[in-house]
This record gives sequence, C-alpha cells and structure tokens, in this order.
Amino acid sequence: MTRPPKAGVEPRPEIATELRDAFISTWGGEPLIFRAPGRVNLIGEHTDYNDGFVLPIALQYSTWVAIARRDDRRVRFRSQTVQKTAEFDLDEVDPLPRHDWTDYVRGLAWVLEAAGNHLVGADMLIDSEIPIGSGLSSSAAIEMATGYGMLTLAGAAIDLDALATAGQRTENVFIGVRSGIMDEYASCHGVAGHAILLDCRDLATRLVPVGTDTRFVVANSMVRHAHTASEYNTRRDECETGVVTLASVLPGIRALRDVSLAELEASETLLDPVIFRRCRHVVTENARALRAADVLEAGDQAGFGALMVQSHESLRDDYEVSCAELDLLVETALGIDGALGARMTGGGFGGCAISLVRQDAVERFSAILAEKYEHSTGIAPTMIVAEAGPGVGPGPDGLGFDR
Ligand code: ADP
Ligand code: MG
Repeated sequence: MTRPPKAGVEPRPEIATELRDAFISTWGGEPLIFRAPGRVNLIGEHTDYNDGFVLPIALQYSTWVAIARRDDRRVRFRSQTVQKTAEFDLDEVDPLPRHDWTDYVRGLAWVLEAAGNHLVGADMLIDSEIPIGSGLSSSAAIEMATGYGMLTLAGAAIDLDALATAGQRTENVFIGVRSGIMDEYASCHGVAGHAILLDCRDLATRLVPVGTDTRFVVANSMVRHAHTASEYNTRRDECETGVVTLASVLPGIRALRDVSLAELEASETLLDPVIFRRCRHVVTENARALRAADVLEAGDQAGFGALMVQSHESLRDDYEVSCAELDLLVETALGIDGALGARMTGGGFGGCAISLVRQDAVERFSAILAEKYEHSTGIAPTMIVAEAGPGVGPGPDGLGFDR
C-alpha cells in the first residue's frame, strides 16, 4: 500500500502578521520585522573550515523577528518556536554560555558589542518556519535575523560579511562548535533562483543559476545522533593535524584547500590512515564543489547528480560523518525514477539528505522516498522542495518597517 507522505514543511506567509500581533500583546508597541533564511548546501561539505568551497542556497524558509527599541540596555526576547522567554543586559561583562537556545541571541549581541557596535536595549519576539536542529541552519537564521534587527535599531550601517562572521564567532565561542562561515554567509547573501559558490578563504562569490527543469528535494531523516558536535570538532582537529604534517613537505600551505589530490597521495605514507582519508575527503570535495558550479551553470544536471553521489560516498567512507538513516535515504532516493543524484547535506550524523530530481517526477519521487523510509525505520520524514530565496532583510512592507 502506498501512503501519501507526511505533510511537508510549509512556508507560513502569515507568520509576519502573527508575529506582529503577538509582539504587541507580549511586549506592547509597534515592532519592526526582519527575517533571515535557513540554507541547504548542494555540495561542498566540511570544506568551509578548510578554507575551501561550498555551494549553498538560501531557503524559502526563514526565522522571523519582531523587534522594538527600549530606553535602557536590557534585551528581552521570547521564541514562539520553543515557547521560552529570557533577558540579559548589554552591559553584562564576559557573559558565559548557558548551553541553551538563548546563547544564539546573547552570544551574538555580545560578539557584536565586542566588535565595536553600540547596540541598544530591545524587546524581541522570534518565530521560525525552519525545522530546528535538522541541518537546515535554523541557528544561523536566528543569529542573522536578530543580529540584523539589533544593528538596525542601533542605527548601524550593516556590513553583511561582518554580521556573518559575528554569527560564526557566536557558534565557535558560545555554542562550542567550530563551524565555518557557510551557514551565516548563505543566510545573509542568498539570491532568489541562485546557488552561491563561496570561497570560504576570502569570501569571493560566484552566483550560479539553479536549473529550471529539476528540483532539489530535501528529506529530513528526523534523527540527530548525540555525538554530532564533538565529532564535528574532532573532524576539524583531524584536518588541522593533516595540514601540520603535510606542511613539512609542502611548505607554505595554510589549509587543505591548498593541497591537490596528487600532492596528498604522494604524502600518504606520512599520514595516519584515518587522517589521510579525512584529508582526501576535503581535497576531493573542494574539487567537486568547483566542478559542480561549472556543470550546474552549463545545465548538465546528470553531471551534477553524479558529483552529489561521489560527495556522499566520500562523506560516508572517508570522512565518516554519515549514518545508517542518511545512507538509507540516499540509497533509496537513487533507486527512484527521476532522481539524478543524492547525498547527505549539512554536518552529518542525522539531519537531511538532498536529491536532485527531474521536475516532472518530484511529487512521485517524494511520496515513494517518504513511504520507503518510513517502512524501513518507522519514522516519517518531512520533505521539502527547496527554492533558492533571498538573504536576510526587512520583513514585508506595511508591517512596521518604515524605510
Ligand atoms: P540547525 O542550525 O541545523 O537547525 P543547530 O543545532 O545548529 O541546528 O541549531 C539548533 C539550535 O538553535 C536549537 O536547538 C536552538 O537552541 C536554536 N534555535 C534555532 N532556531 C530557534 C528558534 N526559532 N527559537 C529558539 N531557538 C532556536
Ligand atoms: Mg546550525
């Protein structure tokens, strides 16, 4: 029996109005509204912290914030998503992480102040269309939306690269994940209809139109294994260890981005076998991300799909950040008519898989993938057809944003 898939995640166009009304009843006064999108990475995984290349799109799903100025230096904020309220003082000296959702807002405010911004007190109400903790970067979205709002209230000229960097610093220092710049960058610089080829070393970008006769279907495995953050940091350490060893024969390299596959293979005996495989993933994934941008631009969808499959195999076998559920989603997807490629996306150990699917097959593909995954695991995945949308900015006109 074929059952229809569990309802996918829908964008909620009414979210801005709901948020404004809820703000008025929670804090009082007329707020400004801002939004920042989640992202999905098409290819180029675990390359950002190796100074390498990534190819994300900003999603059509955002985290929204309604925000109004206060006359003191207090920041009160509530998330409708988690139904919790918190507050802090901007003059708090060296705030410590609390290891909960408030770190994303407090941490960011602190990082922005430390970078020389003079923020002002604020009341904020936050809500999100992005599934939380599933690898679509709800964390960057809450940072970028609240950061953009706080900087706007402070009357600051907003430098999006500096805002993205402040978000990355928040994750590194407050959350304790040594993540790269991709998530925040994509949330800031998304462009409708385009993927962003980002050079994480110097933030140079190239916009690449996504195809019109195919779609990217994102399936959420609905699992997240407990060791995700520590494994992430371990991978980063392993890459750094690789660079230190390789630098003894390749003087001048600063990151795995500077190493070719031929150079890496010539040095294989110097490296611990595990470190060698970690490095091989990063080096080959960088090459794949660059190649993928070219084939996407050329309209070679089959070529793009093949690179996605190679990326998944490399993440599974060399980098060892996949898991049974992601492997199952990818393997199942590749067996369904209309799929041109599939891979895990995001940090790994759960979260989402992304498939490139012929447009005319999307509906059937999604139903079959959801059904088969649920049949094997007992878990109904949520499915998203990703649309490349715009980056952070003010919410819709007429909702308090007065430009
Ligand atoms: P991802 O970024 O892939 O969604 P993360 O683990 O990096 O996963 O971030 C998820 C965390 O971010 C949540 O556990 C929560 O602490 C915080 N967060 C994200 N969005 C919200 C929100 N709308 N309200 C409150 N907390 C949020
Ligand atoms: Mg995150």
